[in-house]
Amino acid sequence: MVQPYKHEPFTDFSLEENRQAYLQGLKTVESYLGQDYDLLIGGERISTEEKIVSYNPANNEEVIGRASKANQELAEKAMQAAVEAFKTWRKTKAEVRADVLFKAATIIRRRKHEFSALLTKEAGKPWREADADTAEAIDFLEYYGRQMLALKDGVPVQSRPNEFNRYHYIPLGVGIIISPWNFPLAIMAGTTVAAIVSGNTVLLKPASTTPVVAAKFVEVMEEAGLPKGVLNFVPGSGAEVGDYLVDHKDTRFISFTGSRDVGLRIFERSSKVNPGQIWMKRLIAEMGGKDTIVVDREADLELAAQSIVASAFGFSGQKCSACSRAIVVEDVYDQVLNRVVELTNQLTIGNPTEQGNFMGPVIDSSAYKKIMEYIEIGKQEGKVMTGGEGDDSKGFFIKPTVVADLDPKARIMQEEIFGPVVGFSKAKNFDEALEIANNTEYGLTGAVITTNRAHMEQAREDFHVGNLYFNRGCTGAIVGYQPFGGFNMSGTDSKAGGPDYLLLHMQAKTTSELY
Ligand code: GLU
Repeated sequence: MVQPYKHEPFTDFSLEENRQAYLQGLKTVESYLGQDYDLLIGGERISTEEKIVSYNPANNEEVIGRASKANQELAEKAMQAAVEAFKTWRKTKAEVRADVLFKAATIIRRRKHEFSALLTKEAGKPWREADADTAEAIDFLEYYGRQMLALKDGVPVQSRPNEFNRYHYIPLGVGIIISPWNFPLAIMAGTTVAAIVSGNTVLLKPASTTPVVAAKFVEVMEEAGLPKGVLNFVPGSGAEVGDYLVDHKDTRFISFTGSRDVGLRIFERSSKVNPGQIWMKRLIAEMGGKDTIVVDREADLELAAQSIVASAFGFSGQKCSACSRAIVVEDVYDQVLNRVVELTNQLTIGNPTEQGNFMGPVIDSSAYKKIMEYIEIGKQEGKVMTGGEGDDSKGFFIKPTVVADLDPKARIMQEEIFGPVVGFSKAKNFDEALEIANNTEYGLTGAVITTNRAHMEQAREDFHVGNLYFNRGCTGAIVGYQPFGGFNMSGTDSKAGGPDYLLLHMQAKTTSELY
């Protein structure tokens, strides 16, 4: 019997021993910077001439590693390896599949700070954010392993006399996992192992900015005993390899996390039935957000300001759950806004390898450019209260930026920026605040800061988001505690880290025997 699931605790870095452990992890990572990483296809390591070079976003001269880059021919080879491996993996006992996840969790736990330090170097995550990412990866492994054990015998159905009915779940087939750079360990690992533990085989195409941490994770899965061909590692370009695999007739499902635009493109392409294809592909997509914190008149205003700042600027706002809008009831608007500005001015920004820095860089030059353009738009549409400046001389640093007095329909209040920018709008009352909160095409996370119980219940019914939080920030969902995923343009309404997530990777089979 496995122990009941409990989430991996976060590390207390105020303790000297934990600080040293992280610094040791950083040393380990520094010892292997700049190395090459191969593709993994059917258990075979393949090195290609062309590479994806991963740079440190805080120091663009530092190469984290160079990943081999798949082309269509290698993607095809990986597809065939996955098709072949599926024949046996689908029949491998659920307990054996789950054990691989539990062992992988143990390995990552043992090398926790090394993984976190790698996240700091490759994705620019400050210590605490990196630690949370690693913890969440461990959580996904532990949680989905247990979920599979719970599902392995199916669910009971009725049988009449002399009839033996069974209802159980079988895997789908080969899945394509296209993972994001913002949780380059947790979401990459979570989406991969959810598919694998359910009995599918996969091709993993990690984000091109963070292939090294994915390569390290693939090594962990091998070490944990995953048979050859179950997990194939194929970094590559979306236009070349991504489209090819999405269109492939042997692809049974796609699990995508990333932007709305790419998600919609995959949605469209995957709906087309190609020659030789005998199924309708399934798509699990986790896309963007334009997440709002609503502050009521009757509320703890200090808590409101702290929640806004932490949710807007943690990991430089590069979470799809990040608070990018604050809607504040007019009686307390100035007070909350001023306090948010004060707290924002206290934030430290700089190299994320230094423990004291709350914020590091944004991921790359195109993100930097896009965010700076939005800041310019913010200057036109509203009033920049603090921040508004960037520095890309060494890494991609942008000051946390607060834009006030925005029209709820302003671009800053509608479009996903994915950076350290939060917009403020005023609402006449709580009803209007909720109306504004719902006025985007997204529906991922939201929070309401209020002491008014009736308003809380009103929001529970009417605030249309997949993850709604009361009297706290809107980021930091924990696997198995706050299953995560949103509505509308935020994705396919799936819930990562939730009790029904694995079912998205399976299909139910009814068998009935007369005896
Ligand atoms: N699960 C994360 C959170 O709750 C966000 C995931 C994402 O940004 O994709 O903050």
